[in-house]
Amino acid sequence: MEEITIHEFDFALINEFFTELDRQGPGSPEETIRALGFIDNLSNKTKIADLGCGTGAQTMVLAQNTEATITALDLYAGSIEKLNVTAGKFGLQNRVKGIVGSMDNLPFQNDEFDLIWSEGAIANIGFEKGLNHWKRFLKKDGYIAVTYESWFTDERPAEIEKWWLDAVPEISTIGHNISIMQKTGYIPVAAFTLPETCWIDNYFIPQKARQEEFLKKHAGNKTVEDLIALMKREADLYSKYKQYYGYVFYIGKKM
Ligand code: SAM
Repeated sequence: MEEITIHEFDFALINEFFTELDRQGPGSPEETIRALGFIDNLSNKTKIADLGCGTGAQTMVLAQNTEATITALDLYAGSIEKLNVTAGKFGLQNRVKGIVGSMDNLPFQNDEFDLIWSEGAIANIGFEKGLNHWKRFLKKDGYIAVTYESWFTDERPAEIEKWWLDAVPEISTIGHNISIMQKTGYIPVAAFTLPETCWIDNYFIPQKARQEEFLKKHAGNKTVEDLIALMKREADLYSKYKQYYGYVFYIGKKM
């Protein structure tokens, strides 16, 4: 039987589920700070763009650990609304601004940013396409830091290979992704894998209560039942095959 893939679900429905959670993808404050440690010359003049920011978990970490001004962009208006409220609660509204927009048509000037950040989102445009398209918005010697789904091994069991090729057709190995970074005009600075806790404790476990709540809210809705079943399968596959894949932080410097 053909399996349903994530692409078959409505963008608004997926976001309605995820915006109630602190994060919309695997990650953690510790790993955001670790990646930030590779960026030179941060100051109160630094301008950061956070693309596919969701409700802004990593945006707040960036704001609290730098003096930079941050523009956070996401296609889903509900997430941006929440991000701007959170920035206000933290007293960061003067340095953090969430805007609705698409990462493949950015409303920015050439050479506007010192740093482009994107956690768990570049697959929406494609790794190579994103690196290429976003480069002109970075100053020379500016940095890019993205997390992206990556294979840890050259060979994988067919079940997990198929799952990821359906979700992210371009998924590749760390070595290949670093070569793409170099080919698209960045000097690779660092690459490190996100620990399992970023997936299990910060992504899958918080989903459980939300799944029950969401099923109740949409009782009898077959599409919602299918979406939740897909999310549960994603978690099961992770526990079965996590030695073969994960998110990798890729950090590069524009040449
Ligand atoms: N960075 C957040 C995090 O780690 O919690 C969110 C990651 S979530 C997996 C991916 C995000 O990309 C979602 O918030 C989604 O709305 C956003 N997105 C998808 N396509 C987009 C596009 N074309 N332009 C901007 N954002 C997009």
